[in-house]
Amino acid sequence: MYGLMQDHPLLISSLIRHAAANHGGREVVSRLVDGSIHRTNYATIELRARRLAHALTSRGIRLGDRIATLAWNTHRHVECFYGVSGMGAVLHTVNPRLFHEQIEYIIRHAEDRILFFDADLLPIVESIAPQIGCVEHFVVLCERAQVPKSELLQLAAYEDWIAAAGEDYAWPQFDERTASSLCYTSGTTGNPKGVLYSHRSTLIHALAASQRDGFALSSLDSVMPIAPLFHANGWSLPYACPMVGAKMVLPGNRMDAASLYELISGERVSFSVGVPTIWTMLLAYTGEKGLQLDALERCLVAGTALPPAVQKALKDLHGVTAIHAWGMTETSPIGTLSTPTPEVLALPEDQREAELLKQGRVPYGAEIQVRDAEGRVAPKDGQTFGPLWIRGPWIASGYFKGEGGKVLDADGWFPTGDVATWDELGFMKITDRTKDVIKSGGEWISSIDVENAAMSHPKVALAAAVAAFHPKWDERPVLVIVPKDGQELSRDELLEFLAPKMAKWWLPDDVVFVREMPMTATGKILKAKLREQYWHRLE
Ligand code: AMP
Repeated sequence: MYGLMQDHPLLISSLIRHAAANHGGREVVSRLVDGSIHRTNYATIELRARRLAHALTSRGIRLGDRIATLAWNTHRHVECFYGVSGMGAVLHTVNPRLFHEQIEYIIRHAEDRILFFDADLLPIVESIAPQIGCVEHFVVLCERAQVPKSELLQLAAYEDWIAAAGEDYAWPQFDERTASSLCYTSGTTGNPKGVLYSHRSTLIHALAASQRDGFALSSLDSVMPIAPLFHANGWSLPYACPMVGAKMVLPGNRMDAASLYELISGERVSFSVGVPTIWTMLLAYTGEKGLQLDALERCLVAGTALPPAVQKALKDLHGVTAIHAWGMTETSPIGTLSTPTPEVLALPEDQREAELLKQGRVPYGAEIQVRDAEGRVAPKDGQTFGPLWIRGPWIASGYFKGEGGKVLDADGWFPTGDVATWDELGFMKITDRTKDVIKSGGEWISSIDVENAAMSHPKVALAAAVAAFHPKWDERPVLVIVPKDGQELSRDELLEFLAPKMAKWWLPDDVVFVREMPMTATGKILKAKLREQYWHRLE
């Protein structure tokens, strides 16, 4: 027997319809690529998204067609999230920081029919244009007068498309399992693979994200997504903010500390999300200038492990609670969040802090499992390392066009490629990527733990622990360090500092000082490159 409740599909258009109807005047503030500040609101965004949907329909775009964006965090990009997905097409957010060959590959692989892009990214578009024949229209996210000159391409202005499209467009209804957006993950090897989200997965994920034990979002918040909208759905904020009616503050392409600080302070930002390096940069800037992170109450830090020193500085110097979270493009991205439970709050202070520094626990909907070397469920002892698996309604079941073959195990678990421990309170801690663990004499050393210990040294800006070949132990850790600007630090000084912080056999065999780290397009240290570079260091 079925229940007698109304059956409304969970569609992305319902979010912006809700925001327009109930929080229509709430501001959405953007820094545009020319540096100017632009103000709009949810009512206007909904109207313009409908015009965009109309413009796409009149150009023959149909349910399931892929539309690419190569764009920064601005209101126009948010309009694309709704205009494209809302009409039933698939929004493919492309990361402009990828190598050009990768951008070309994924646009071709996705068979994108239209490319919306920010004006400053024209050189990338021009360099790949001859190879992306699938793209029928190149549309610059600006007014006509701001469209850059191109010898190669016929460029349209986004504002012309919006202005020419009528308002008489009603959001269509369709199956909630319809694909809504597409994000490619850039593995360190092989071609990027597409993660294809659905309307249903996106809405359930946004509901989970905005809960009190998640981002704790409400209409009282002013939210700044520093994490780019092209990275794993902008960590759900383009959906979760309209869902609750929170103000959005979008930093465009200016990711320097002064520009970010200006918005945090001027727009009274109360919640923000970003990778640890963003927070390190903002801490250095505010420290140097003697500034406070004003209205900021909490921030979500994910992407790489949150260094304890960063969490502490945010709390002690600015009263900001940094919530550590873990996730992947394949998990929409939220997997776990480190928000307290009564059991955690009852712990003595040092244990409580250590618990909240872990990557945390799953919200309702997601399930995780840590397995041991034999593939059995690992004990919840906070000690046993093993591969981390996850499943739930917002976790990928496979990749676009079947790339990578069958991904899930027989019980529907997704292999994350991360190595973790879990404990009896349900808190998970990432110790490594599978390929980054350092295997010394058959035992595993957590590169993240070694890095965190090094990062707590006041003269260290960035740390990476990588495996180097060792004739006796197979692998031993080598620590690569970028010192803070103007700081001198010696190998012995650092090793002495680390000695009381870890088991003796975890202590790195060598320390290398470098000026900068090789980074990936999503702001992670390129460990594979460092491993290659230092593999023979100890021979
Ligand atoms: P991406 O798909 O680019 O978002 O990368 C996902 C990967 O980032 C995960 O599989 C982890 O290896 C890593 N990651 C994400 N969040 C964290 C975190 N809080 N601590 C450590 N690693 C993380």
